[in-house]
Amino acid sequence: MNICVTGGAGYIGSFIVRQLVDAGHRVVVVDNLCKGHASAVDARAQFVLADCGDRTAMADLFRRQGVQAVVHMAAFSLVGESVTEPGNYYRNNFVASLSLIEAMLSAGVKRLVFSSTAATYGEPADQPITEEFATEPINPYGRAKLMVEQALADFVQAFEIGAVSLRYFNVAGALPDGSLGEDHDPETHLIPLVLAAAAGRRDRISIFGDDYPTPDGTCVRDYIHVLDLADAHVRAIDAAQPGALKVYNLGNGDGFSVRQVIEAAQGVVGRTIPTAVAPRRAGDPPVLVASSAKIARELGWEPRRGLEQILADAWAWHRSHPDGYAD
Ligand code: UDP
Repeated sequence: MNICVTGGAGYIGSFIVRQLVDAGHRVVVVDNLCKGHASAVDARAQFVLADCGDRTAMADLFRRQGVQAVVHMAAFSLVGESVTEPGNYYRNNFVASLSLIEAMLSAGVKRLVFSSTAATYGEPADQPITEEFATEPINPYGRAKLMVEQALADFVQAFEIGAVSLRYFNVAGALPDGSLGEDHDPETHLIPLVLAAAAGRRDRISIFGDDYPTPDGTCVRDYIHVLDLADAHVRAIDAAQPGALKVYNLGNGDGFSVRQVIEAAQGVVGRTIPTAVAPRRAGDPPVLVASSAKIARELGWEPRRGLEQILADAWAWHRSHPDGYAD
């Protein structure tokens, strides 16, 4: 298929592009490089520097390239920033998505895979989280993503398009040879920060709160390898069927506390990682663990890599690219 990946120069997008090309698809990446890295884009894909929220430009590109499916990854993704800059999040993550969907409609593109998030659930009391749980996001990031899902539910009814929304839990990891990985500026995610502390590039890792109602008092999350996540997108393109919005969680189904992640990282890197307990970070739910039973049942997807593999691969990337893509 001819597939357009928006945000294909970003961390997760770059892995999806690579796996789509490996699966035999022809891929065109659209990215404005406000966050992404041109050097992360697979050389076998075509790269177009553009804003995916530009409806006319995107419709032209879809027609010109004969695009048959869109994987929409381009978005801002920092929960804390979404609280202080809500306008940017609603504009970039919701309004731009709406324009993109309308560009698809005008060019006759019928399949969409949408990058969604566990933040759509808010703070569920029970675990593991299934897709039937109430969606009660507690920040603009989660709300803007949920608004896109809600709009998609209406669009698939009104027009003969099909959409799959994938709700990610905590994505981490890299290619095992360390050639493709995670490079955010600023970096806010636990695993890259733990590894930066392990490498001595940071003094210590701050543990954001140790008084949560969890076994060791630190937050519990479900970490999924970026390669497993990308594999689900390849399957989701085939699963997009006219008239339906399908929603799936993507996680490993195992919860690890912040302290457990640091301990596992110490095992992988073979040294002690300095830590310091810091205040809770605003907006962090105590526990988020996915049930991915639905996507296993319906698309035959299962995660194949656990926390150790995630850490080992992220460490390989970190050691070979201490300054990330350096672009
Ligand atoms: N965390 C932490 N120290 C850090 C960064 C993150 O203790 O320097 C915690 C954070 O509070 C959360 C977990 O690690 O409980 C995962 O955070 P991350 O930002 O990686 O992902 P999120 O769960 O926010 O999507």
